[in-house]
Amino acid sequence: MICSFSHQIRSLEEYVSYRATNKPELEAQRAYENALSAGRGEFNVSGFCVACGKVVPLKVDLQWGDGVRPNWRERLQCACGLNNRIRAALDFLGELVGKTQNPALYATEQVTPLFAQLHSRHLAITGSEYLRDGTQRGVANANGIRHEDITDLTFATGSFDAVLSFDVLEHVPDYRAAFREIARVLKPRGHLLSSFPFDASLAKTLVRASIGADGSVVHHLPPEYHGDPVDNSGCLCFQVFGWDVLDEMQRAGFSEAHTVFYWSLDRGYLGPNQLLIIGQR
Ligand SMILES: [Zn+2]
Repeated sequence: MICSFSHQIRSLEEYVSYRATNKPELEAQRAYENALSAGRGEFNVSGFCVACGKVVPLKVDLQWGDGVRPNWRERLQCACGLNNRIRAALDFLGELVGKTQNPALYATEQVTPLFAQLHSRHLAITGSEYLRDGTQRGVANANGIRHEDITDLTFATGSFDAVLSFDVLEHVPDYRAAFREIARVLKPRGHLLSSFPFDASLAKTLVRASIGADGSVVHHLPPEYHGDPVDNSGCLCFQVFGWDVLDEMQRAGFSEAHTVFYWSLDRGYLGPNQLLIIGQR
């Protein structure tokens, strides 16, 4: 087990039971984090960065925080550019494909520090962005950036050992089509390793916006925009996922889907409810 604290959870009921069973440990984690950050705007925590392969200072500040507490998920940033959630994702990727020779990987990102890191270790990786510059699907633009639509991928069925998709699916209104396409392009037994806004208290996915019959965006809640590396205007968040996303993944062609909740002092994976979503074809 790569983390000192890592739990596979498959439903709201299992989550409630996990919270109750591990209450003292979870409270100790929060107390540790609060003591670490109390009254400090910016500081470093020592931790092992899996990308750098050594213990490094991990920077914490109040960027994207609530003004008092750090946003642990997005901070704890190594000098290599990778933050808490991305370092952890690399760690879990090692568990999923570590025994596969030259794994074929697809990442739904290409202009990020994570892709650069993955490309340096896995030459058989393809990355793409959702471009809005007229580039055709499956083709790279003048800057070498490939365009793909995650709901209609150009890859052959059974192409990849793993698909990596981090904080993308909340921006895809037809996320069910995206899951079907990801399952399709995975080899049998291949994995989706993913993160997206996930509220562990929700049985059902919260739809913030959807596409109406006339093709325009319908807002059900005040619009929320997230940063987009290829579009400065940002990207609308269509949904915050709940536990039913695991059922949706199975309906889309995954044989199994679960979340993994993790926390590690040694690796600087701090913060409440740090989790990844993993599906197996
Ligand atoms: Zn690093």
